[in-house]
Amino acid sequence: DDGPDPRHTPTVLALLEQHGIRATFFLIGENAVEHADLVREIAARGHHIANHTWTHPDLRHLSEAKVREELERTSELLHRTTGKAPTWFRAPGGDWSPASLKVSAELGMRPMAWSVDPRDWAR
Ligand SMILES: [Zn+2]
Repeated sequence: DDGPDPRHTPTVLALLEQHGIRATFFLIGENAVEHADLVREIAARGHHIANHTWTHPDLRHLSEAKVREELERTSELLHRTTGKAPTWFRAPGGDWSPASLKVSAELGMRPMAWSVDPRDWAR
């Protein structure tokens, strides 16, 4: 989650390749637009790219129109960059809301949460 990041994404990609693992990357739009080359690299290596909003806000505090802007802008960018529209969405912080579930469904995405939190983000 939260990439792509020029410091960490290449390391993660190398580790996944070393172990023959395919992963899903939940990308933030404003990072993806800065590092389109990394977005294409993730896709070229056979990983799945998914939507993690444009600015990583707490969606529970946004209007439905703002939620739509966050998700639609990111999906359009990822589609333009990889040639594929994302089909999965994860709410920042796992903070789901009725509006984010509704809008993501309308944009053709399913919600994906997690079952294990390795707390890697704490570092
Ligand atoms: Zn996140």
